[in-house]
Parts: sequence; structure tokens; C-alpha cells
Amino acid sequence: AEIWQDVPLAPPDSIFKLTAAYKADTFPQKVNLGVGAYRDDDNKPWVLPVIKKATEILLNDPNLDHEYLPITGLPEFTSGAAKLILGADSPAIAEGRAVSVQTISGTGANHLGALFLSKFYHWDAPKQIYLSNPTWANHHAILRNVGIQPVDYPYYDPATIGLDFKGFIGTLQSAAPRSVFLLHACAHNPTGVDPTRDQWKEIAEVITAKNHYAFFDCAYQGFASGDLNNDAWAVRYFVEKGVPMLVCQSFAKNAGLYGERIGALHIVPPTKDAADRVRSQLSVLQRSEISNPPAHGARLVSLILNDSALFDDWNRDIKTMAERIITMRNELYRLLTEELKTPGSWVHIINQIGMFSFTGINPSQSQALIDTFHIYLTANGRISMAGLNTHNIRYFAESLDKVVR
Ligand code: PMP
Repeated sequence: AEIWQDVPLAPPDSIFKLTAAYKADTFPQKVNLGVGAYRDDDNKPWVLPVIKKATEILLNDPNLDHEYLPITGLPEFTSGAAKLILGADSPAIAEGRAVSVQTISGTGANHLGALFLSKFYHWDAPKQIYLSNPTWANHHAILRNVGIQPVDYPYYDPATIGLDFKGFIGTLQSAAPRSVFLLHACAHNPTGVDPTRDQWKEIAEVITAKNHYAFFDCAYQGFASGDLNNDAWAVRYFVEKGVPMLVCQSFAKNAGLYGERIGALHIVPPTKDAADRVRSQLSVLQRSEISNPPAHGARLVSLILNDSALFDDWNRDIKTMAERIITMRNELYRLLTEELKTPGSWVHIINQIGMFSFTGINPSQSQALIDTFHIYLTANGRISMAGLNTHNIRYFAESLDKVVR
């Protein structure tokens, strides 16, 4: 018998399948609202001007070589990345208890964080992590791969197309003490629905009271509001309150470095002594997983984080992206409510934040957008706002109007 005969055929990744269908479509007005990657107003990938500058600097550096980075990554990168998410004046950094390791973008940070917890967290009962319902689909796979069972907590309320705060808090309260909760730091994927600051305060309070652990995933810092500090608010608040936590950080979206795979995992233990032990074990895990992280993206981001002029340039580029997306939200809302008088309330389009919007349409309406109008989106009705631009937004609004009528 053939040795692989028992390997079941896996389905293709749904997002990448959607992209393939979009590419194969010859309709001139086709629209891709599937993949979460920024596009400019001409639907082109955007290399941030600050990244072009930093690349230029790197290329002109006579000392540039291709030696291995340290196991935990480029030190100037990890220290800058920690300041970016935790805040330059973070008590955790000042007290030497922030552990930062360079990872293979946000996915790698999630993986390393999950692997570390799987091995070293004080599991009272079966290993399980609470995930928002819904969440980034990859969270489920990443956790299962390291032997942690994902369980849902209520998050999205289809009735309001908003946050099910009661359900969320209720699960925080009823979960066994020392449960682990995965939280999206900002710009929740796929819903675009974030807790308010007051709600975050309540969440932190219950997590503290129940001795839960906060597993933050931060893939969109700066991308949500256009302001890096604003989007890090929840993470910094949790650190300030002494909530036990870690943060997964990605530079894919906010620096447009998708393919460079640059990110970091930050674990914030209560003491420097604990931090040293945690760091030593992360180093051991990283060694067996990837030996050393890749250098190019780390060098680019390190330049941007550690030079104030480049850092200002980066902030400007982030604003450009965030503002274009916010403009598209406002325009879509205006077209639907004022011009087309589309039935239903669409205020969630402007209340939601970040790359994605949950439109609230059902799977058959999503399918109709694909089949009839050549507009590609996931069955859950999520659209990537970055796929909309001044050339196609009217076509999208009119098509959406037709499928919901
Ligand atoms: N977490 C969330 C919630 C995401 O949306 C993404 C990007 N799709 C990631 C993590 C990781 O992306 P990357 O590995 O490209 O940084």
C-alpha cells in the first residue's frame, strides 16, 4: 500500500481560495473584499514611503551582512517594539520585567505564546483558551497545534451588529479561576467591533478578580484609529493594573511588511526574576522552532522605531492608511443611508474600526454578491475596507443595496 493513503485531503484555506477565484474572474468591475491587506485608492499594494527610506539606508550600509541574529531577535528591534506597544514609560520595561522575543510576524507570536503557555502555564484542568466568537480563524488552528483546546466566549451580537458585552463579561465571571482569555487589542478581526475604554476597564477588573490570564493579540496597532498610542490603550491599561498577560505584535499591517514576517511576543511577568526565567525558556523554545528569526524586517522596523525623524514619517504613513479606510467607511455609510436609502441600519459601518467591517449580511447575500456582482467576500459578511476605493465604492454600495432588498 502507498504510505500516504490515509492522509485526508484538506480543504484549501478559504481566504486564499477566495483570492484565487477573484484573480480568475475576468469581469472588469470585480472587487476583492476578502484578504486583509491594505490597498491604495488604485487598489495597489502600498509600500510605505518610510519603508522605502529605511530600505535605502540599509542598502547603503557598508557593514550590512547576513549573519544570524541572536535567538531572541535583533535587540534594538525587540526593545523598540516593546516600547511601542507597552509605552516608552512603561513600568514593566523600567523594572526589567518585560520579556520580548522577535517572532515570525503575528502568527509566530501567537504560536510561540501558545506554545509557552502550553508548556509552562499553571493549568488546573484541561488546557483550554477562551476565544471570542468569532475570531481570526487561525487562532483555533494555532492553539490546537500546541495541544490547547479553544473554547468560545460570546463577543459579537448579531442583533445589534455590535458587542455582546453582557455575554462576554458573564463568561469572564463564570469561567474557572485562572482561565486564559485571548483578547484582540484593537480592531477586532473579523468584526471590527471593539470594547469601549469603560468596557475594557470592567474586563480588566473581572480578569484581575478571577486571576485570569490575558493573551493579547495586537495585529493592527495604529491601523485602527491612525494613532499608535491610542490603539495600544487597552494593553497599557492592563499592564498598569498588573493583569498577568502577554502580547502578540505584528508589523505586517502597520508597516506594510506582510511578507517580511516581522513581529514580536512580549510577556509581562510580575517580577524581574520571573522575567529572566521566562526569557530563558522562550529562548529554548525558539531555538528548536526556528533557531534564529529573519533579519531584514527586523532591521527595517528597528530603524523606524529608533530614529525620531523616521518614526514621525511612519506615523504619517499610518495616518494615511487609517484615514483612507475611515473615509471609505463614511462614504459607504453615506451612499447606503442618504443616496440609496438601503433598508436597515448601517451605523455599524462607521462605528466599527480597523481593516474589517462586519456588514451584517447573511451567507446567501454574500454569495449573491460574488455570483451576481463579482464582489468577493467571506460568507460571514466580513468585508476588508481596504478593498474599497473611490473608483469602486459606488458599485459596491449599489450591489449591496440590491442584495439586501
Ligand atoms: N492576529 C490577527 C487577529 C490577525 O488578523 C492577523 C493577520 N491576519 C494576525 C494575527 C497575524 O498576521 P501576520 O502573521 O501576518 O502578522
